[in-house]
Amino acid sequence: DGYAFKKESLELTYEVGDDIGSGNFAVVRRVTYRDSGQEYAAKFIRKRRGGGRKGARMEDIHKEISILRSLDHRNVISLYEVFETSQEVILILELVTGGELFDHISRKDHLGEEEASAFIGQILHGLKHLHDNNIAHLDLKPENIMLLDRNSQSIKLIDFGLAQRISEKEDIRALMGTAEFIAPEVVSYERLSLATDMWSIGVITYILLSGASPFLGDSQQETYHNITALNYEFDQEYFENTSDLAKDFIRRLFVKNPRKRATVDDCINHAWIRPKKQNEELQRKSAVINIDNFKAFMARKRWKQSMRVVSLCNRLSRSMLLRKSTDTLGSRNTLDEERREKLPSITERNAAPDSKEP
Ligand code: ATP
Repeated sequence: DGYAFKKESLELTYEVGDDIGSGNFAVVRRVTYRDSGQEYAAKFIRKRRGGGRKGARMEDIHKEISILRSLDHRNVISLYEVFETSQEVILILELVTGGELFDHISRKDHLGEEEASAFIGQILHGLKHLHDNNIAHLDLKPENIMLLDRNSQSIKLIDFGLAQRISEKEDIRALMGTAEFIAPEVVSYERLSLATDMWSIGVITYILLSGASPFLGDSQQETYHNITALNYEFDQEYFENTSDLAKDFIRRLFVKNPRKRATVDDCINHAWIRPKKQNEELQRKSAVINIDNFKAFMARKRWKQSMRVVSLCNRLSRSMLLRKSTDTLGSRNTLDEERREKLPSITERNAAPDSKEP
């Protein structure tokens, strides 16, 4: 791979603009390449220093970059170049401006299953490219599925911070990702594989069609229990206008044994994505997603996000007070730890305590 990161100042070649997003250890800013006027997204990842817990480990940054460099597909974000300073590694990425797919859909008044399946189809094509390269994304969720721009319906998968190369030799286990979307093998700390992503595709599709989250409980424990017990149903209240084809697609993904779960190729060839008979096509044409409940789901989600910001602010001001009173003792501040609580999106990474449904 040759870790050739540019050491010269980013500002020599790019003009740095507004913040457009942030993550655990990263801030994403809009930048403009001075020579061409072309815009990009620059992801500034803070390096971990010493034994602390603030910042991303160099090893993990290298992995994210190496994975992005090995990918090249219209439905996957492109990486152009990498800069490095003593504090940060900066990834110059293709800029997406269309926002999250789910936000785009929640602004619509109507969405037929045909359109919904076309979106899922694009996600699957991006994912097939990953899986063909033996890469698992391991963090598929609505926040990481974006639209290239407002006009195009072109999907881009982003955030390869948790992505892993899957091999026969290496046994990867990790409790990570966002509770609602993770597979049973993640919850039970068993071996992860490409199939782990397929479960998340099932959850994403379920929510897209109904506005209901299949395994979400009142607490993280309950969510985990629902996942491992395969405790879900197609509630008539939410799924009355859903085709049997779509439900069949989801059922093949909510399979506990990863080896028996539908693969990305199975999904691409499923009749809901690629109808073979006329009646399949008609079934899809006459079914619609539950847009009212979907909008309600998105409203709840935004509300939860804003509650997180409020509680983070409260804790920040508490920790600043604490810091003021302990500064004289030379204690280190906890701001950086607090920053790990992600602002704009809900991630319960590393089994961080879940906030209860408001
Ligand atoms: P996480 O903590 O979820 O792993 P992260 O630190 O790895 O996040 P990303 O998810 O890659 O960071 O980026 C954070 C946010 O920045 C995204 O949710 C998205 O809103 C925005 N973003 C990321 N990449 C791009 C891009 N290429 N174009 C536009 N916005 C982007």
